Amino acid sequence: MPDTYPAEAAARDDLVRIGRLLHTRDLVDGSAGNLSARLGPDRILCTPSGLAKGFLEPDDLIIIDLEGRLVAGKPGRKPTSELAMHLEAFKRRPDVGGVVHAHPITAVALSIAGVSLAECVIPEAIVFLGLVPTTPYATPSSDENRRAISEVIVSHDALVLQYHGSLTVGRDALEAYFRLETLEHTAKIIALSKLLGGGPPLPPEQVTKLLATRDSLGLGRPNDAEEFCVACGVCHPLGRHAERRAPAPARRAWDDAAATDEERLVRAIAERVRLELGHLP
Ligand SMILES: [Zn+2]
Repeated sequence: MPDTYPAEAAARDDLVRIGRLLHTRDLVDGSAGNLSARLGPDRILCTPSGLAKGFLEPDDLIIIDLEGRLVAGKPGRKPTSELAMHLEAFKRRPDVGGVVHAHPITAVALSIAGVSLAECVIPEAIVFLGLVPTTPYATPSSDENRRAISEVIVSHDALVLQYHGSLTVGRDALEAYFRLETLEHTAKIIALSKLLGGGPPLPPEQVTKLLATRDSLGLGRPNDAEEFCVACGVCHPLGRHAERRAPAPARRAWDDAAATDEERLVRAIAERVRLELGHLP
């Protein structure tokens, strides 16, 4: 658990401010998404069910315990069932002080198209997010969501929920929000680069330097070494991951024999978009 907790008034202001950003930056729709901040060992400040995140006032927020029971709030304000994901993150990660669940458009679109964000292509994402996994689809607001993130949140600060949204955590709610910005920014770049034909990932020696920065900032997670070895070829020749070294990434080859299903799909989408835009005869 953190040694200190944020003052309640400051935490309320932070969540209201983040709610407005979610709305203005198109990271949620309607009353979707939810925000939370840890106020104490068994006290969580969070957004209530059914209110649009861009129009919250500080006293709209409610306080619950780690079991999701309402502790304090205005009449009519009640917890949302999606808070189960947040509570799971707080329980599994004592270092986490804030959680943000949103519906970022590009990240969700890529999850539907089967395009992973767990690629070594964006330096800032490698440092601040690590590899972002996509959790299997689970019905929103059901307990499946909690179970879907329970294990993976231990070793990651940012997740894509397939067909649904994102879950990001941080030492406070603002850090969790900034991770969401980085996640969606990364998704936009990956989507655009794939539409342009794609390109090779960063070479392992460059990723190694970024991982050193990640560690120096205290951002490394327990599974980093193994995951970056498998996904990005950053393996220690004499270490325990040497035998799992990933094959060198294939250069883009647009002949059907070499293309993966993902590449064929992206190519089909790119051709369709170019036709729609009238850039092809
Ligand atoms: Zn949702």
